[in-house]
Amino acid sequence: MKRRTFIVGMAATVGGSALAPLKAKEELPRLSESDPSAQALKYIEGASSSESVPKNQFCYNCKLYVGAKEDEWAGCQIFPGKQVAGKAWCSVWQAKV
Ligand code: SF4
Repeated sequence: MKRRTFIVGMAATVGGSALAPLKAKEELPRLSESDPSAQALKYIEGASSSESVPKNQFCYNCKLYVGAKEDEWAGCQIFPGKQVAGKAWCSVWQAKV
C-alpha cells in the first residue's frame, strides 16, 4: 500500500468514526411517558415539577445517562434506542460517582 493511500484511508476512518456517535444520537427517537417501558419504570419527563420525584435526581446526574449534564436529551442504558430528557427521572435512577 502506498503511503498516500494509507494516510487518506486513515483520515476517512477516523473522520467517519468521530461523526458516527453524533449522527446516531440525533436519530434516536425521544422516549414518551406513555411508552409501556417508561410507565413501568415511572419515567417522568418534567421531573423538577413533580412531587413524586426525589429531590435533585435527574437523568443528567444519573450514572446510566449517556450524555453530558448540559445535554437536553441523550441516551440511557435502561432505554436502548431512545433518548431521555436530561431533566427527566425514572425509578432506576443511580447517583453518578
Ligand atoms: Fe434517567 Fe437514569 Fe432512569 Fe435512564 S435510568 S431514565 S438516565 S433516571
